[in-house]
Amino acid sequence: MSELRTDVVIVGGGLVGCAAALRLRERGASVAVVEKNQLGAAASGVNFGGVRRNGRKLAELPIAARALKVWRRLPELVGSDCEYAITGNIKVARNEADLEQIAAHAEAQGEHGVEVQMLGRNALRDRYPWLGESAVGAAYCASDGQANPRLVGPAFARAARAAGAELIELDGAKHVARDGGGFVVETESGRTLRGGALINSSGAWGARLAARFGERVEIWPMEPQMIVTEPAPYFMVPVLAVVGGDVYARQIPRGNVIFGGRSGTADLDVGFAKVDAEESLTTLARTIDIIPRIADLSVIRFWSGVEGCTPDHLPVLCPSRTTPGLVHAFGFSGHGFCLGPASGAVAAELALDGRTETPIEGFDIGRFSEA
Ligand SMILES: Cc1cc2nc3c(=O)[nH]c(=O)nc-3n(C[C@H](O)[C@H](O)[C@H](O)COP(=O)(O)OP(=O)(O)OC[C@H]3O[C@@H](n4cnc5c(N)ncnc54)[C@H](O)[C@@H]3O)c2cc1C
Repeated sequence: MSELRTDVVIVGGGLVGCAAALRLRERGASVAVVEKNQLGAAASGVNFGGVRRNGRKLAELPIAARALKVWRRLPELVGSDCEYAITGNIKVARNEADLEQIAAHAEAQGEHGVEVQMLGRNALRDRYPWLGESAVGAAYCASDGQANPRLVGPAFARAARAAGAELIELDGAKHVARDGGGFVVETESGRTLRGGALINSSGAWGARLAARFGERVEIWPMEPQMIVTEPAPYFMVPVLAVVGGDVYARQIPRGNVIFGGRSGTADLDVGFAKVDAEESLTTLARTIDIIPRIADLSVIRFWSGVEGCTPDHLPVLCPSRTTPGLVHAFGFSGHGFCLGPASGAVAAELALDGRTETPIEGFDIGRFSEA
């Protein structure tokens, strides 16, 4: 098979890899993406769809702010709004201790320019009469929203391809190595790709690729599992999350309520996550407690997906510590859909310039070896 030579090779065609490819083409660099499955079909395609800053760790707020600017430009950038809508987000507390905790975080977020409003029990009930009695208060962020994950990764992939990126699907990177001043990637089907720089955006599998370059990250798979109901009259505008993460829910204008909270199981070698029935029943009971009218709806589908989780739940988004030209962008720990469009752009900048204007302190791979 012939060789393909590009400025940058990207391993992993999820949202992060496809967004990186698009940004690289915008900058005039040639790029090839190699994806072992279908583009945008792993975590990026099966996630809950929350696009939020509410409750987000402070270290992620600068990149989340950059991401929001991209989300708002989706139609001009990728030719579709991907059902992105700014609907607000409420983080609900079930007890006073949780309420105090989210109030303190809301204040800290305010210092970082994120406007979060605290709602007490009565204000919450007035605004959202569909909430159950166990909700005692909430933090509300009006600038948050949601999007359809099935549309976003493929839209970035199409836009990157239209801009001249080489996208290879259903062909995994088997051997990845340093090659002279650059990198060589050999795929399962026997293709050879050479690039001056390499972006590791291989999601839950990212630590495996990093290990080939002597960089160790203890990452484990997380498998949030999702449930969706039949369509119901539209009642729930904001995305809802309960403190502790054991319930989150959103309703799309077509009427289906999508919710989750517990985990399935995954085997990284197999590559897919499986739903756990018992855990789904627990999620159902807890969601009905917070949103009682869910009890009247039929569930039409369950699914799960696999994501890489780091010890501090922050991503690895940085230049390699061992290998010039290698950039890591993985381990988004269950909240990288929102960050994806900006994380890809940052990875592209790191690959081309070795630096980015976006603050990414806290995401360095070296934090694990130092620990
Ligand atoms: C069920 C679920 C719910 C979630 N909900 C939210 C949410 O509401 N909000 C939010 O912000 N985030 C959410 N997340 C997290 C979010 O989906 C991820 O953080 C984000 O999609 C990560 O994008 P990615 O491109 O890094 O990873 P992925 O989309 O997983 O892409 C990585 C790709 O790398 C490929 N790959 C791996 N190894 C190789 C190889 N050797 N060769 C070629 N290709 C390879 C994989 O096949 C995969 O397609 C959720 C995740 C899950 C699973």
